[in-house]
Amino acid sequence: MKKHNFYAGPAILPEEVKKKTSESLIDFAGMGLSVMEISHRSSQWVECMNRAFSLAKELLSIPEGYEILFLTGGASSQFYMSAMNLLDTNEKAGYINTGTWSNKAIPEAALFGSVIEIGSSKDNNYKYVPKNLNKSDVKYVHYTSNNTVFGTQFHDLPDTSAPLVADMSSDIFSKPIDISRHNLIYCGAQKNMGPAGVTLVIVNKEALGKTGRTIPTMLDYRTHIKKDSMFNTPPVLPIYVSMLTMQWVKDNGGVNAMEKRNKAKAELLYNEIDKNELFYGFVAKEDRSLMNACFGLHNESLKDDFLSMADQAGICGIQGHRSVGGFRASMYNAMNIESVEVLVNVMQSFSQKYG
Ligand SMILES: *Cc1c(COP(=O)(O)O)cnc(C)c1O
Repeated sequence: MKKHNFYAGPAILPEEVKKKTSESLIDFAGMGLSVMEISHRSSQWVECMNRAFSLAKELLSIPEGYEILFLTGGASSQFYMSAMNLLDTNEKAGYINTGTWSNKAIPEAALFGSVIEIGSSKDNNYKYVPKNLNKSDVKYVHYTSNNTVFGTQFHDLPDTSAPLVADMSSDIFSKPIDISRHNLIYCGAQKNMGPAGVTLVIVNKEALGKTGRTIPTMLDYRTHIKKDSMFNTPPVLPIYVSMLTMQWVKDNGGVNAMEKRNKAKAELLYNEIDKNELFYGFVAKEDRSLMNACFGLHNESLKDDFLSMADQAGICGIQGHRSVGGFRASMYNAMNIESVEVLVNVMQSFSQKYG
């Protein structure tokens, strides 16, 4: 049976990308070797790497002065690496606290300078995106553009004149972004860009080298800029699959087309959540994420019945995060609207049976 993959991450990849990857696992670029077996210094690989850089640059319209990096360590390593490279001991950074991931980023940044929480939605269990920010004078403002766990998303950039630093792990390539307002953007690949194991970093070169501290070689963005992300062996396979996924985004109309698709999918599901008397949405309507829809049943005792009906339709990954409960349907770029239609149909049949 066809599966409809609503997992939050690692998450759905385009069929074409999986197919092409499976071929390259046996024979990469006609070399008679697996992509996992070749030297990262080979011309065939360097060409792949360059393709990945140029696709990221083109898809996101990354302006001059910005560098693109493919690093390891996940978005979680960027929680400290960003502050280590951008924030001096006597400086302040402003953080917007929108839940799980911000809460992990904040203490890591505080190891390197002062952190001020300039906005937080903790008072209502992260069900909205704070808009009225404390206007302190800060080196940068950090925000989590899409809150994978709670299902909220920034639909506008934070209201600040400070340069931005963003964790875009779960909505990169889902819509156009104004890169020029940011000094740093980072994202773990495994939500909307590829498999786990590589982290995309986009950094304003001007912002680097301004702290007084000595940074270990591997943790200094400048090391990786100088060596085109190949100072040491890069995670070849995750970069390869991410490159194919970026190519797929381009072939399917780029980030503008992705945004349109993502809006249509989200609208379809949220309309059903609002219309169906058995279900309700968890977060403020204006802050709903186009990527992760979090919702529940008024009558929680029906939860297992709904999950089993969904399972019978081939739907997987809609069990809510353990800290939120209910259901979470993740609808990343690679998901077709047909899969969302299947979920909506199951919700309708469910309400006919139990409503
Ligand atoms: C998944 C996720 C992370 C953690 O990413 P890792 O690559 O596992 O470290 C961080 N931020 C956001 C927004 C995420 O969705």
